[in-house]
Amino acid sequence: MKPQLTQRIQFSLAYVLVAALVLSFLQSWLLAPRSVDLPMSKFLDLLRADKIEKVALTEREIRGLAKPGALPAPPSAAGDRLRQMLGSDDDVRVFSATRIPGVDEQSLVRELEQHRVEFAGKVETTFWKDLLFGWVIPLAVMIGIWMFLMRRVGGGPTQALSFGRSKHKIFDRKELKTTFSDVAGVDEAKAELIEIVDFLKNPKKYQRLGGRLPKGVLLVGPPGTGKTLLARAVAGEADVPFFTLSGSEFVEMFVGVGAARVRDLFEQAKDKAPCIIFIDELDAIGKSRAGSTGFVGGHDEREQTLNQLLAEMDGFDSSKGVIIMAATNRPEVLDQALLRPGRFDRQVVVDKPDLRGREAILRLHARAVVLAPGVDLGVIAARTPGFAGADLANIVNEAALLAARKEKNAVEMADFEEAIDRVVAGLEKKSRVLSEKERDIVAHHEMGHALVATSVAHADPVHKVTIIPRGIAALGMTYQLPTEERFLMTRSELDDRIAVLLGGRVAEELVYGEVSTGAHNDLERASEIARLMVTKYGMSERLGLASYGEHTPLFLKGSGVGGDREYSEETARAIDEEVRAILERIHDRVRGILTTKKAVLIAAARELKRTETLEGERLRRALAGESTMEATR
Ligand code: ADP
Ligand code: MG
Ligand code: ZN
Repeated sequence: MKPQLTQRIQFSLAYVLVAALVLSFLQSWLLAPRSVDLPMSKFLDLLRADKIEKVALTEREIRGLAKPGALPAPPSAAGDRLRQMLGSDDDVRVFSATRIPGVDEQSLVRELEQHRVEFAGKVETTFWKDLLFGWVIPLAVMIGIWMFLMRRVGGGPTQALSFGRSKHKIFDRKELKTTFSDVAGVDEAKAELIEIVDFLKNPKKYQRLGGRLPKGVLLVGPPGTGKTLLARAVAGEADVPFFTLSGSEFVEMFVGVGAARVRDLFEQAKDKAPCIIFIDELDAIGKSRAGSTGFVGGHDEREQTLNQLLAEMDGFDSSKGVIIMAATNRPEVLDQALLRPGRFDRQVVVDKPDLRGREAILRLHARAVVLAPGVDLGVIAARTPGFAGADLANIVNEAALLAARKEKNAVEMADFEEAIDRVVAGLEKKSRVLSEKERDIVAHHEMGHALVATSVAHADPVHKVTIIPRGIAALGMTYQLPTEERFLMTRSELDDRIAVLLGGRVAEELVYGEVSTGAHNDLERASEIARLMVTKYGMSERLGLASYGEHTPLFLKGSGVGGDREYSEETARAIDEEVRAILERIHDRVRGILTTKKAVLIAAARELKRTETLEGERLRRALAGESTMEATR
């Protein structure tokens, strides 16, 4: 036990020091010759009666030796017996008198001379005082502060001033009670993490055939979806220690501290393997280094921390059973180096929950509160599209507080309604809640995309359609799964891609007779493709094979500043017209497709509105126009 030993040595040193000081004070006090305090007048009396042998003058005091028998004996003092034992003589002859400041300088000397007293000046000795106030007390204060800092910073007296110590919290097996049963509504993420748990539990099983265990698992998802919760649940399920630290805690004012913390964290974790290191809010350290070079030396600290993290991740070997988990809600800003194989090579998406997920989360959190009989959590789930787990937990809690304030015995539906309003008001734009009308439009729009994608020959298959608001711009989303990676595309493939993009808008036209602003991103992308077809790919008969470029000087490349157009005004107009013609032609085609399938579109949109997310078999059936009403949940 090294730390305890050093601690003991330090303690003994301090003890010896204090003891020596006390002893020397005691000695000087006890063995000082006994002396009497005389008033000035008495001293002068004695002087004038020639009873003084010699004196020493200091600025404030006269100390001296009287002739034997001249002084009255002082009351017996503490050192008496000791002095007797040491054989010092008992006769008290030493005295001191306080001088009257500033008046007796001349006369005193003259009088001493007259009475032939041996006298000398003496500089006042303040050795002990100097020692005490100049050294002992300041030193004691400094040592005190030092010890305090050591305790604060390092968690123990041995870790003196080590700012590099990691501030992570360690949770032991016993403290971690979170399990997968505390997480609901994110079943896909859970399924992937169950595998990680198995890695931690039986590493041998996976290494048997020479496989290498994953090192890093990155949880990606919007705030409040339960990433932190999931990480703890993995540790709880695997029954291993859990080291957790937030990314922002690595980054300090001082360059190098963050790197030292990373080193320390990994060192400690290796001793405890198998275990989980969890770095929350990874983007605080993992921001792309490329973007951070705006100032010279501007982000040195973060960069060093990141480099250290990369080095540590490379340096340790996952067969020991240390798995690094991290969470972020901004994967796009992370440095590419972090996502390389051998680092955070597994990414688990933790998405906002769908209707069923929300109901499950509400149910989970409602276990702790007393519900009135009329409460239907399914209805509450239906009212809260776009809410993350944390928002839902918040709603249950708010409702319980509201009911308690009204002195109710159970939480009623009305409390939940009020809680939703409150939470929505608090969330503002952060998490959109769509009105019924908007949800209707979005459902038709997204089904429009999906239906066109399944109807044209060259589009990637649709695997998921959702109207759960995500991200900044998208109110809904149609996910197409590319069947193969594309490097070359034919003209008909580009045509079909535009068709799918226009599908959303055309669906709105057909169903509502008017269009919303929701399609502007689709139109932007469709126009972009059409423009490229005309200007770069030579796919327009009218403009032929020429590539119409813009000449961007090299130093402006990528700066967003456009260069000079290399074609005439007429050509520009022709390009615009041609782009419009392509879009119009495809628009008509899409309109034709969706008009014949309008009934399917409407039924599928209704189904999508009901379930919020359609995928797999249910999506296939909805798109095929098979009645899905019997396939209720
Ligand atoms: P994140 O780390 O993704 O921002 P947290 O894990 O910190 O979100 O979630 C905050 C809280 O919200 C959790 O402690 C939990 O009470 C609740 N919560 C979030 N997601 C879920 C979920 N999927 N299931 C149950 N509770 C959840
Ligand atoms: Mg978190
Ligand atoms: Zn769209």
